[in-house]
Amino acid sequence: MASFAEFFASHTAVLLLYAGIIGLLVGSFLNVVIYRLPLMMERDWRQQCHEFLEMPPPAAHGSSFSVFNLAKPDSHCPHCKHSIGALENIPVFSYLWQQGKCKHCQAPISLRYPVMECVTAILTCTVVATHGFTWLTLALLVFTWALIALTMIDVDHQLLPDDLTLPLLWLGLLINTTGMLVPLQDAVLGAIGGYLVLWTVYWAFKLLTGKEGMGYGDFKLLAALGAWLGWQALPVVILLSSVVGAVVGISLILFKGHGRDVPIPFGPYLASAGFLSLLWGHALAGKLFSLLG
Ligand SMILES: [Zn+2]
Repeated sequence: MASFAEFFASHTAVLLLYAGIIGLLVGSFLNVVIYRLPLMMERDWRQQCHEFLEMPPPAAHGSSFSVFNLAKPDSHCPHCKHSIGALENIPVFSYLWQQGKCKHCQAPISLRYPVMECVTAILTCTVVATHGFTWLTLALLVFTWALIALTMIDVDHQLLPDDLTLPLLWLGLLINTTGMLVPLQDAVLGAIGGYLVLWTVYWAFKLLTGKEGMGYGDFKLLAALGAWLGWQALPVVILLSSVVGAVVGISLILFKGHGRDVPIPFGPYLASAGFLSLLWGHALAGKLFSLLG
């Protein structure tokens, strides 16, 4: 590790090239997680409901495969079911090479897949460029990749799966047992504080208006951010996500005719605010406090 670290310290371009390639590959895997994890959860819930109601097992739903997890069945074209080989699965390049179409049936492939791969590569390079070749960088990359998956699943389904938020929370506490990012005490208080703040807002809003403004997934995500960044980061994260969330929410209502009562997921704003705080938290906090006098 030490000799690699020395090499990469003097060859930043090589380091970023590797980071970019790893980012593309991870982005490709995240596409699978974003698509399949919610379907897996839905199948699981359906199964449990049937068991609870003592009904016969449900017919396969959401896809026609009896085994459905992150690895099985193999990736296939949703249109012609032709299974996608290794050469057709190279991030971004396969998409460009096939001009965005399935090789067999010519059905268009969503632009979203290569875009997610590029976004993951850019964020991976950003983390590596700001933190170098260290163990901390590895931890921060896991944090960043989890936030990308959570953001997209929340956008698609208004859902922040426990399967992602809770491991992220435990991992934050674990890496801070050595004080990697913040002292353990700050991390524990951050996790509890993050959960309680949004829990309180949720119940206050519900008692006042009778409506649910957000979900329990949001509390768990902010708890995870608190575990990673410490309680001191919570004001910046909450303020940043509320401001961006309000701007985007109002624009959606004004320009896209988004109904006022249609829920807008809060997870993506929390996740982006968490990522920004991770990289530039001190600068952001300084700006914020100087604005407030
Ligand atoms: Zn096809």
